Amino acid sequence: MTDEEYAEALEKRLFEELLPLAGSKDQAALRRRLEEVLTAFAKENPDAPKTLSGHLCSLCGCVFASLWPDEEAMAESRANFGDQPKEQLAVVCDDCWERVRPN
Ligand SMILES: [Zn+2]
Repeated sequence: MTDEEYAEALEKRLFEELLPLAGSKDQAALRRRLEEVLTAFAKENPDAPKTLSGHLCSLCGCVFASLWPDEEAMAESRANFGDQPKEQLAVVCDDCWERVRPN
């Protein structure tokens, strides 16, 4: 399974599992469900690329799969925002990033 195939399968799965919760204002429940789905998906696909995971966008609340290795994302974050503890960094989807990115 290539990274792209995995990302597609994961996105499809997330869409199916989280669609019933769409419109819910309960971010904590959404996050919990997201973690459950990701954990289950990872168990079903042990050959999955380790760096690939699903994320909940902090701005629009959408769920997206990222093909970016953590180290690369952290490097770009450092370049834009300086050294910040990972826990303090907001995760945003590509669309939101295009809206908020520094020039
Ligand atoms: Zn977003």
